[in-house]
Amino acid sequence: MPAVATGSMVRREIGGDHICLLAFDRPDSSANIFDAATLDELSEHLDFVENDNSLRGLIITSAKKSIFMAGADLKTLLKQAQTGDMRAFIAQGQRTLNRLAELRIPTVAAIHGACAGGGYEITLACDYRVASNDPSTRIGLPETTLGLIPAWGGCTRLPRLIGADKAAEVISKGKLYSAQEALKLSLVDEVAPRDQLVDHARKRLRGGKRKPSLAPKFDQEILALRDHNPAPARALEVIKKGLSVSTQQSLVFELDAIVDLGKTESTQNLIRNFFLAEKYKKGSSKAAVPKVVHAAVIGAGVMGSGIAQWLSSHGVTVILRDIAREQIDRGLANIEKTYADAVKRNLMSAEKAKEGRARIVASTAPMELRDVQFVIEAASEKIEIKKEIFRELAMQAGPKTIVATNTSALPVGELADATVSPEHVIGLHFFNPVSRMKLVEVVVAKETSQETRERSLAFVRQIGKLPVVVHDSPGFLVNRVLFPYLLDAVELFESGLDADKIDNALVQWGMPMGPLRLIDEIGVDIAIDIGNTLEKAYGRRDHISAVLLWLREGQMLGRKTGGGFYKYEAKTQTPNDSLIQWRRALHGEPEGAEGPNIPADWHRDPRLRLNEEDLAHRLIFLMVNEAARCVEEKVVDSPEDADYGMILGTGFAPFRGGPLRFAEHFGLKKVVDELERLAQSDEKFSPCEILKKHARDGTKFYEN
Ligand code: NAD
Repeated sequence: MPAVATGSMVRREIGGDHICLLAFDRPDSSANIFDAATLDELSEHLDFVENDNSLRGLIITSAKKSIFMAGADLKTLLKQAQTGDMRAFIAQGQRTLNRLAELRIPTVAAIHGACAGGGYEITLACDYRVASNDPSTRIGLPETTLGLIPAWGGCTRLPRLIGADKAAEVISKGKLYSAQEALKLSLVDEVAPRDQLVDHARKRLRGGKRKPSLAPKFDQEILALRDHNPAPARALEVIKKGLSVSTQQSLVFELDAIVDLGKTESTQNLIRNFFLAEKYKKGSSKAAVPKVVHAAVIGAGVMGSGIAQWLSSHGVTVILRDIAREQIDRGLANIEKTYADAVKRNLMSAEKAKEGRARIVASTAPMELRDVQFVIEAASEKIEIKKEIFRELAMQAGPKTIVATNTSALPVGELADATVSPEHVIGLHFFNPVSRMKLVEVVVAKETSQETRERSLAFVRQIGKLPVVVHDSPGFLVNRVLFPYLLDAVELFESGLDADKIDNALVQWGMPMGPLRLIDEIGVDIAIDIGNTLEKAYGRRDHISAVLLWLREGQMLGRKTGGGFYKYEAKTQTPNDSLIQWRRALHGEPEGAEGPNIPADWHRDPRLRLNEEDLAHRLIFLMVNEAARCVEEKVVDSPEDADYGMILGTGFAPFRGGPLRFAEHFGLKKVVDELERLAQSDEKFSPCEILKKHARDGTKFYEN
């Protein structure tokens, strides 16, 4: 009989072979995490192990179903980062893991399930690592993606174990690897079937203590990465410096670096984003909602085919309908391609792709829809077409079928009114490309029932997307906030600033691409359609400038036609010369005139003299203002919804925490002052009431 001692977090078992097994098993939780209490308890077990001379080896493992150890407790870390108290907790972790590394007996980690961050660092303090070949086993050091570095020995022990170059890659990318991938990278020594994991670990102990390896050379240049998240570069610096000193000294470098990073706004925002993702993934509703197994998608264009593919890959059978045969064919080809890409990128097995593809039935003929739980309409963005479809759908659908629209900006309530049961109508606004964009705006109209809302939220989560609830109003959240920014960039271009200059300023500021590039990606025609709807609702700030209409006229619709603000050839992107000629003519210069691209009257227009930072701020402040309006008008339920929706829906610089979080950090008063100054020459900049109120009263959107 093994001698068992159970603490609250770690169970200790010693067998007749004098091997001690420590199994992490956090009570009332499916996960293990490292907090101060767990470290204390581990330390007590290490006291015991150090003092029992009969022990021959130690196995570290977990009693959980699919988690070895999820890492350090991020809630505590974020709080400590904010209060500047991170040092003591990190140092405690380093001390505890050091004791494990220095035990006189051999040690092995038996890893099954997620093993991330501090969870992997405890295994690095062991002599050996054996991982289960289960799909739930995911191993890695994701700290840099949160603006931190592995500081419980990760930056010190991993380079000494697998070589500095490989360690630098694992740490700076922050990816999680399958057991097989981890074996290839030498992150683990062995992969074993799950039910034999501990036996294999036991055998490993026979190898005795592992000889310490010499610190390898590392000549990689530490580039000042353009990335706004300073963590990857800082991790590389610690690895490099740490290799020429003792383990102890290298741990001090780790400690100093993580404490510095914790103080930065960008790291705190990246950790917050992590919690937001968790929150939106889980939701707050406890209602049991039946799983969706059968759905229909109307319209097999870019979005319809993307949605059908995504649903089918998540186990939902899909009827895909379009009025045009060639559109169906194109849609199906699109679906095949998305599946093939997923297989190529190792995201899915060929077999799973085949099964998924087989769940789609496509047709131009009306089909029985009584049994489908959800219909998603993704037909052309024309209110009359959509109304007609909704009228028809309401008759074909069953009494419990939810009818959703993927419209970008049309009023969901108007479509609901075309049906006999408006309580079953909702907006599910997916983003393009569906297979990559996580956000779905769940657009609740006036008559949408609570049940429809709950079932829709559960459905979005079921298919692995993140829902943000938005109340029905033109442009919902994301397009509404994005468009004043896009359209002002177009006006700046028209006034004489070059596309490159505008786009670079925003990329430097932290956006994934500049606004004019983004219009080329969205499509000039689609941008005009959405802009028109918004201009009708909100006026001047969504005004469509002549340059967009000219591009559309010339069928220069952006990337899909090979040109828009830029020309796209193979992998290159160059300014569109014909557009510059057009602009010259607009400013009264003869076509084909030589000389600079800037119009002759530049000195009269202050916009042309904006420096990079002021240019970026002018555009970003428009987004801040619109996001604040969405909070003020209760289009979203919270500032968090506005910020997170913009990060997920547009890639808004994640390290800035979203438009409102950024504005608050920058200073709401400074934002309002600048908007008021700009509003003197253009009313579209007028700050909204809630911004003015916060600026006046010194209050904020967020409490912390
Ligand atoms: P698309 O032009 O590629 O596809 C629309 C499809 O609808 C076409 O295949 C057309 O034949 C079909 N259609 C038209 N009338 C129909 C009817 N009566 N019954 C069945 N099918 C019909 O357009 P898209 O880009 O896929 O956009 C579809 C919807 O999604 C629009 O409402 C659009 O605003 C929205 N949307 C688009 C994007 C985007 O980036 N493209 C992003 C989010 C939302």
